[in-house]
Formats: sequence, C-alpha cells, structure tokens
Amino acid sequence: MSLLEIRNLKKHFPVGEGFFSRGKGAVKAVDGVDLTINEGETVGLVGESGCGKSTLGRAILRLIEPTSGEVNFLGKNLLAMPQRELRDMRRQMQIIFQDPYASLNPRMRVGDIVGEGLEIHKLAKGKAKRDRVLELLHQVGLREDHYDRYPHEFSGGQRQRIGIARALAVSPKFIVCDEPVSSLDVSIQAQIINLLQELQEKMHLTYLFISHDLRVVEHISHRVAIMYLGKVVEIAKSDTIYRDAKHPYTRALLSAVPIPDMSRKKERVVLEGDVPSPVNPPSGCTFHPRCSYREALCSQSEPTLDFAADGHGVSCHVFGPNKRA
Ligand code: SF4
Repeated sequence: MSLLEIRNLKKHFPVGEGFFSRGKGAVKAVDGVDLTINEGETVGLVGESGCGKSTLGRAILRLIEPTSGEVNFLGKNLLAMPQRELRDMRRQMQIIFQDPYASLNPRMRVGDIVGEGLEIHKLAKGKAKRDRVLELLHQVGLREDHYDRYPHEFSGGQRQRIGIARALAVSPKFIVCDEPVSSLDVSIQAQIINLLQELQEKMHLTYLFISHDLRVVEHISHRVAIMYLGKVVEIAKSDTIYRDAKHPYTRALLSAVPIPDMSRKKERVVLEGDVPSPVNPPSGCTFHPRCSYREALCSQSEPTLDFAADGHGVSCHVFGPNKRA
C-alpha cells in the first residue's frame, strides 16, 4: 500500500534576488517528479551533487515550499494543507541530516536534543519524557549515561545515532535520510545502515534514502530512483538497477562503482562534459550533451518516464521500455 504519492513536484528557485531580478529565470532544482513510496519500503534516491535530490527530500516534507505539484501522504495533499494540520502531520514525517556535526545544537544535552520533539508535540514530559529518551538511546545503541552529555563528546557515528534517535522520538511513519552516512568512515557507514535497517523492521518505517553513491544505497533499498537535473530518469527494484540498468546515465554511474569481485568485468562508461546548468537546461533529453548514444530526436523531444510491466521505469528515447536496445 502506498504511503506517499508525489505528483509532478517542482521546486524552482528564482535566479538572483530583489525586484529587478524578476523574470531572469529560475534554477529548476526539482522539475516534475512523480514518485510513489510504499509502506515499509526504502527507496534509494541517487544522483550527482546538484541534481536536486536533497531539494526533493526537503520539498516533500515542506521544509522548503514547493513551486507546484502534489505530495499525498496517507491520502492527503500536504501542499494544500493549512499550517496547523501540517504541524500535526509533520510528526509522522522526519528527516535525518547529512552532517551529524552541524545538525545537533552544541549547547544542548543529548537528552534535550532527543526529547525536544516530545515536548513540541506534547507527547511526554518530566519522567515520561526521560524514560522515552532513554529507551530511544538504547534502541540506537547509545547508553544511559549519554543522556546528560553534549554533542562534542561524541564521534561522528555516535552523533548520527543521536540524530536517528531524535527523528524516531515522535514515532514517525516516514523518514527522509538525507545522505546520512556520507560524512562517515566506511566501517561506520555500514553500522549506521545496519541500524537503519533494523529499526525499519522493528518499527515498520518507510525511508527515502538519498545518496550520491550507488554503492551505499544498494543493500538498504528495495527500489532505486536515479535523478538527473531535477528529474527521475530511471527507477526499478534494487537488483534490477544493479543487474540491468537501461538509462545511459545510470550505466555511467554504475560503471564508476568499484566491485570487489575481480572476475566480474564491466564496461567503463565515461560521461562527456560537465553537468549542464539547471538554469538553462539542454533541450529535449537534458542528458543528451553527455550521452554517447544520443540520436537526432534526443535534443528535440523530451522523453517521458515510461514503465515496463515489472515496474522498471526509464526516461529515454533509445533504451525506454517501448524501445529497449
Ligand atoms: Fe541518451 Fe537519447 Fe536516451 Fe537521452 S534520450 S539518455 S540522449 S539515448
């Protein structure tokens, strides 16, 4: 059953500031995204830096105001919701940030950081709040004596555990994990990903797991969506993406992922040129200036995200489901 349905979501940032800059254009950070996330599912969202994936995560939660579209959560459109109702709904939708150093208030003790949401949403106070925070610390692998300590006393991995406990405090259904392991050492990354998987099973959580690294999302994701210049260009079950990617951009990203098995050879696909400006994206398929498979049609007409019967969606004139190469 779907928990979240995103329809034609856009977030365009006007270029420049002030009255006289009006009409100069916009950075199309998110430019018409459709995405459905089912209950208990993890969707990995992958793309290069600046492709719009973090903006999409924040726009879903209305931490930044989308330009247009729909975000239906539990059947209600968050974008048409008055602030008061949205505040109650927010309890069910949380975020874990990339940088565990910057996202925790250095002047607050861990117990207050984790318990803040309980107070804001009037869920617990006094001893009940302390007991709930201690339970959360235990769930994320921290100790009771951490309750009164400050963030600077912890390692990066421990700080991310604090961030996870804070997100869990209000018993959400859905969590945007915004590059939650990108700033951590590889060995710690695996611990945090395992923890998120354990918590998902125990609490029936649903995740949108954002990363620039396909290797990171492989094991945690049920499905993977690939984003390029504000749009989803491919989406499929995780094993399908890693075994049978169709879109040339996905294949280029995959070819850059190191594989431990030396017997498995893979074709190295080198991307041509740089990521184009999202202020003035290329015509037709926005990937065409970098694509070695481009045809005449590619620069003239924008491909749509078309789906095969198995749910594998590809936005490409050459490798889409209606024209599989
Ligand atoms: Fe490449 Fe054309 Fe497909 Fe775009 S539509 S990814 S340019 S082949």
